[in-house]
Amino acid sequence: MSASSRPDARCTASPYLYGREAAAVAQVLESGQYGHSEVTEGFERRVADFLGVPDAVAVASGTAALHTALLAAGVGPGHEVVVPSITWCSTVQAILAVGASPRFADIDPGTLCVTDQLVMDAVGPDTAAVIPVLFGGRPVDLSRIRAELTERNIAVVEDAAHAFGSRNGRRRVGATGDLTCFSFGPVKNLTCGQGGMVIPGTPEEADAIRLIRMVGVVQSQAERANATSYRVDGFGLRYQMSSINAAIGLVQLDDFDTTEHTRRTLWRAYRRALAGLDGVRLVDVDPDQAVPHLCQVRVPNRDKVFADLRARGIGVGVHYPPNHLQPAFAQWRRPLPATEQVAEEILTLPFHQHLTEDDIDHVVTALGQALKTAGGAPCASS
Ligand SMILES: *Cc1c(COP(=O)(O)O)cnc(C)c1O
Repeated sequence: MSASSRPDARCTASPYLYGREAAAVAQVLESGQYGHSEVTEGFERRVADFLGVPDAVAVASGTAALHTALLAAGVGPGHEVVVPSITWCSTVQAILAVGASPRFADIDPGTLCVTDQLVMDAVGPDTAAVIPVLFGGRPVDLSRIRAELTERNIAVVEDAAHAFGSRNGRRRVGATGDLTCFSFGPVKNLTCGQGGMVIPGTPEEADAIRLIRMVGVVQSQAERANATSYRVDGFGLRYQMSSINAAIGLVQLDDFDTTEHTRRTLWRAYRRALAGLDGVRLVDVDPDQAVPHLCQVRVPNRDKVFADLRARGIGVGVHYPPNHLQPAFAQWRRPLPATEQVAEEILTLPFHQHLTEDDIDHVVTALGQALKTAGGAPCASS
């Protein structure tokens, strides 16, 4: 094995830095303003401009984005929130954080996303919100059921943690009028180190989230400096984004066109290489719409293939074991046939911006060998 320190096919995912992040952080450290400051607010404005939306509210993580978005949508105890089971557990934890219950929806095995029909199948009298997860960066367009959801007072809160930069038609994800939640965690399409952003649907939602993220105190640091007291206006948590994190995000956003291009190019290279392989079903995305976040295939004998590839030093993963089968969420378990079937088949191939097309060929060759060793019938068509 080479002694190269470049994150290669041994890594499932890896952050990609453009080189100026360290200087941007150093500048914040020298300024002495580490917390929420004009650097954070500058990042909010830049993200809003990039997405073509009036406003964006920076928070500490994607989890905090989901939590505050559900609060702003008025979701609380006694409510149900429709959510797919195959997602990072944060999506479900955010529902529990507001005192509501998850109502797990099944997914389309071809996209790992909910569809109009599957959402409507899961909606009930207590449903207060739906959280479509934009899996792997795919846009999820619920516009055809929008009127019915609105009529029934059901909010849409998009979990777009995978989908920063993706388009839904001509607009960027986030510009569709729903509450949209991004994560800027270490391996997301854009990273702040840690961070998140809510795109509010209305100015009232923006105000609500700004209050919550600042422990319920609205006055700015400057206003508070000239007063002997401050006002706590409502419920809140320590959820703001630090200037240190925002400074990293600003650099990443400057180079986002390179990010988009690289991720799309690498994804197309995977699609080409995998086309020649029998028994593998690519979880397809449209790279003209999505900024691909993951490269996933469905394979027979997944656990064997996984172990074989790991033994060959290939950084495969599984995104994600279904939440409805997790002990913490057992009381909301219900049969989800498509979810349970694909959960046994999905395999995440290494996908990050340090990869070369040679790495991708190496992964796909190893996958072919692992499949031969593992045997088994090809996965059913979606
Ligand atoms: C990463 C992620 C989150 C949570 O974001 P954090 O920034 O890690 O809190 C939520 N949902 C999905 C689908 C994610 O991948």
